[in-house]
Amino acid sequence: MKKKILVVETGGTFATSSVNSVRTLENYDSGKTIYDYEIVKEKSLYYNIEFEKIRPIFTLSENMTFELLNKLLKALYEIDYSKYIGVIISHGTDTLAYTANILSMLFSHKGIPFIMVSSNHPLNHPLANGVDNFAAALDFINCVKIQGVFVIYKDHEGVFEIHLGSRIKQMNQIIDSYESFKNVNFGKLMEGKFVHNNDEKNPTIDDINTVVDPKSAKGIELTKTVMIIYPYVGLRFDLFNINEALSAVVYGVYHSGTFCAPEFDSHNSINRLVEKLKKYDIPLYISEISSGSDKYASTESLKNDDIINIAYDTSIENLYSKVAIAFDLFEDAGLRNDYIKNSNIFFEKVV
Ligand code: ASP
Repeated sequence: MKKKILVVETGGTFATSSVNSVRTLENYDSGKTIYDYEIVKEKSLYYNIEFEKIRPIFTLSENMTFELLNKLLKALYEIDYSKYIGVIISHGTDTLAYTANILSMLFSHKGIPFIMVSSNHPLNHPLANGVDNFAAALDFINCVKIQGVFVIYKDHEGVFEIHLGSRIKQMNQIIDSYESFKNVNFGKLMEGKFVHNNDEKNPTIDDINTVVDPKSAKGIELTKTVMIIYPYVGLRFDLFNINEALSAVVYGVYHSGTFCAPEFDSHNSINRLVEKLKKYDIPLYISEISSGSDKYASTESLKNDDIINIAYDTSIENLYSKVAIAFDLFEDAGLRNDYIKNSNIFFEKVV
């Protein structure tokens, strides 16, 4: 009997063709798709696999919204995973990192791997890596007995890098590569074989296979609004319109874990934001700060307030995902904060 892989098609450049220099999803069903490529046919035969396909959403990923994500989540919650040896999710590169982090928090404990793949160009473009990424996902699923959410992407140097979905950062636009948080990817594929990255910050395959979900949800919808703010010189907090429509703010830091917090009052100071959030009791979560490193004097001027939370050792993409999920999982603020700051659901904490 053939082994089954579930392919979840969500769109992205992976599913586009170029028409008059415009990349469009419109012709997907009438053109050559991933399953028609020789290498995919060969590997399917070699590994004795067949594909089942679903397409809960179909979008360029820059148009991803929580409404679309909820459709994807709903479809994924309805699947009986005991039927499959793995799941491949094709997705656009623009927002793949957010979807990967969200799925990592919710689907990493299903006993099989979920591999997210994408393509830098339409599949038939001479420089496209999408077919290779899909073929690499087939190798990984068939050769490594592992659960969890992963991203496989052939980088600008031709290396098939494998990232934990909970550590992947937004795509580096210039060099056409993904990066794992703190630059520790999970491994790579070389000639179809998995090579684990033995960095001490990485879990082993056994670590991954024994981890269980601390708050398994039978289904979850993302219904809250979480705002991400990245710092830059000149950012003015007095111009922000903060009100009760907002559930939480996730705040990024500069390279050395700092933010603008001068001792004197300033509309550029993060303390202005804290004052505004305090008015509506909206929590502020700050990342990416490494535990155990020296602080800078500037951070000492941050107001001491119970709405402020520092989430150590996780990427901002992961923190955002965790906060959005936590607000729909927990009513109780204490449980919510414990989940956001202290749980390590799929090795998102990199220490
Ligand atoms: N705009 C595309 C998307 O994210 C880019 C890609 O897939 O590479 O859907």
